Amino acid sequence: MKQTKSRQEILAVLTKSQGALSANEIQKQLPHINLATIYRNLETFVTHRQIKKLSFADEARYEIQETPHHHAICAQCNEVIHFTLNDKKLIKEFALPDFTIEDIEITIRGKCHKKKCSLDKKDRPQTKQKQKPK
Ligand SMILES: [Zn+2]
Ligand SMILES: [Zn+2]
Repeated sequence: MKQTKSRQEILAVLTKSQGALSANEIQKQLPHINLATIYRNLETFVTHRQIKKLSFADEARYEIQETPHHHAICAQCNEVIHFTLNDKKLIKEFALPDFTIEDIEITIRGKCHKKKCSLDKKDRPQTKQKQKPK
């Protein structure tokens, strides 16, 4: 894969980020790169397994995972909880005949218990994500 300047810049933004970012959030930090280019490069990174794509209700978010982990996403406020499980145990648990599991990615959807979740949609911070629980 070619390392263009925009690719390096996008990766740098993701490396600095404390959580998963949407293409729009990345573009805000790199206003000189157009959104289509950002999307295209993000998808290339996903294909090359350099970053992970998380599917949210509204838009996808992308992150660099230093250690593989799973996610719980709040359907109401888009809060993301990053958590790890015993993947070796899970692979045993999910044992499928005639299939070798290489990787398990769990995305749990639900509703978080944060205060902001009880706010009206217009008052809610749209892009707030925390890596660590408060
Ligand atoms: Zn994560
Ligand atoms: Zn929530």
